[in-house]
Amino acid sequence: MSGTVERRVHGLRVVIDRDQCVGFGDCVKEAPEGFRLDEDTVAVFAAPEAVERERLLRACDACPVDAITVYDEEGRQIVP
Ligand code: SF4
Repeated sequence: MSGTVERRVHGLRVVIDRDQCVGFGDCVKEAPEGFRLDEDTVAVFAAPEAVERERLLRACDACPVDAITVYDEEGRQIVP
């Protein structure tokens, strides 16, 4: 699975660009309920709705290669 995957959670739209992901797992470390690495060591969603909004944003912002983009309720990009 390549390309982007996205979820709507806490009013946010969270997009993982799986082609950008280098699998360091910073997002997983910050929010293990929300993200996991698949068999190719690329990030996928687990249960992001289980992560409180602020920590979810921190996890997305932790990505060293900006593979995770977050848009707010108005469609404004807030991460990275
Ligand atoms: S922090 Fe970024 S590069 Fe690292 S696993 Fe998550 S999405 Fe991939």
